Amino acid sequence: MAYPAALERLVAAFEKLPGVGRRTAERLSFHVLRDRDGSELAHSIAHAIANTRRCSQCRNVAEQDPCQLCNDPKRSASAIFVVEEPRDVEAVERSGAWTGRYHVLMGALNPADGTQPRHLSVEALIGRLREGSIEEVILGTDPDAEGEATALFVLEAIEAAGLAVRVTRLARGMPAGSALEYLHRGVLEDALDGRRELRRRG
Ligand SMILES: [Zn+2]
Repeated sequence: MAYPAALERLVAAFEKLPGVGRRTAERLSFHVLRDRDGSELAHSIAHAIANTRRCSQCRNVAEQDPCQLCNDPKRSASAIFVVEEPRDVEAVERSGAWTGRYHVLMGALNPADGTQPRHLSVEALIGRLREGSIEEVILGTDPDAEGEATALFVLEAIEAAGLAVRVTRLARGMPAGSALEYLHRGVLEDALDGRRELRRRG
């Protein structure tokens, strides 16, 4: 038996979310319909979409463009810390270990969840580098298979563009497999201090 079209549409929308399969999408759909508590969810989604944008520089989710971090003249613009997700920026900011600029890729290459190069903001990063004032790119993607593949992809994109920029990768002194978001200040400072050079400038 087919679902009513409106329910089918809701299930399909949930199913597009990362990590959500058909059965979970159905369960979530029934849940929001059962208690009619879906309207708060619907309002929150609409509100978030209406009141956030992507920063045209770092690509992070922000309320204004450029975002507060890109707009802060006290932050050095000579090096950028490339991370996977907005939550990584939050974690690094909480740690206080970095006071420069960021670039948010919005994911990592992942064949399992379908994240491909076109989903990542690498072209926007290359565009920023072409402006010429950035001397170093610090690759802060996670030290797992997806993060390593993504770091390599970004490095190759910079090579292909022939840009005179130094590329480094966070030291692996940090606990194996630990994501950026779980690191505290001391560990992150060590990882920054011990970063490995993947490419010389120019
Ligand atoms: Zn920004």
